[in-house]
Amino acid sequence: MSIEDRLYTVKYRDTGESHLGVENPDVCADCTTNECTSVCPAAVWTVDPDGDGVPSIAYENCLECGTCRYGCPYDNVEWSYPKTGGGVVFKQG
Ligand code: SF4
Repeated sequence: MSIEDRLYTVKYRDTGESHLGVENPDVCADCTTNECTSVCPAAVWTVDPDGDGVPSIAYENCLECGTCRYGCPYDNVEWSYPKTGGGVVFKQG
């Protein structure tokens, strides 16, 4: 099963509020390596090459693995668990 097929089995209970963000958008604007886009297994972070460098965050695809918190060399990721009752739901079996 491909990673994309596995990701389709995951559900997300949306609280309507992102649990992810950036601490300082100016840091993103100066970043040229965009580690957030390469470390995330679920492609949550994307940076428009013609944009301002601040990533778009598809938080509803997040697996809550925490990798992005440590992948950013500037410690610029705002990360918290989704509100109670929200977040990722993994299908067992
Ligand atoms: Fe991606 Fe994991 Fe960060 Fe969620 S916690 S955005 S899945 S790297």
